[in-house]
Amino acid sequence: VSLLPKTVTNLIDEFAKLPGVGPKTAARLAFYLLTKSIDDNRKLGEAVLALRENLTECGQCYNYAESDPCPICADDGRNHRMLAVVEEPLDLVAMEKSGFDGVYHVLGGVVSPVNGVGPDDIRIGQLIDRVKNNVKDYDEIILATDPSLEGEATAMYIKQYLAPYDIRLTRLARGLPVGGDLEYTDEATLTRAFEGRKEY
Ligand SMILES: [Zn+2]
Repeated sequence: VSLLPKTVTNLIDEFAKLPGVGPKTAARLAFYLLTKSIDDNRKLGEAVLALRENLTECGQCYNYAESDPCPICADDGRNHRMLAVVEEPLDLVAMEKSGFDGVYHVLGGVVSPVNGVGPDDIRIGQLIDRVKNNVKDYDEIILATDPSLEGEATAMYIKQYLAPYDIRLTRLARGLPVGGDLEYTDEATLTRAFEGRKEY
């Protein structure tokens, strides 16, 4: 028999499903929320619900957004001839902080044979479709996947698929820490890596 009311253990179980949250932290969070008002907890619950209720995927770049096309794709002031290919939405945020003002393609992951993720499981096909019929619309495709084994493998796949088309491919400079994650790279390093990008 659990010593805790089911209402509490339910929430602890849900918290414990989150990345980086163990059972102890999950229990601490649940009891913390018990000290808050119903209004505070309602705000939290509604913010969680809104994630899936209000957000959609941009049909052009596949970033999460409240509109389709997203504000970045819809912005005529940006350079739509520069296309940065990133793994995850948070990598896009990192690129934005580095001052990049082109447009994006969010892959939604990386090719990872170890984890059973092949090129068809992420949005490589959508990228190829987007580019191959509009080659003249782009000056450069920047392969901004992480400098990890999987990020490199993913960039290689994309390079192979795009090889038949006359389009400039670049890769962020090696100044990025090997095995690192774009999302956690500081702005100055990422800006340098972008400025020092190489033909790929
Ligand atoms: Zn978009």
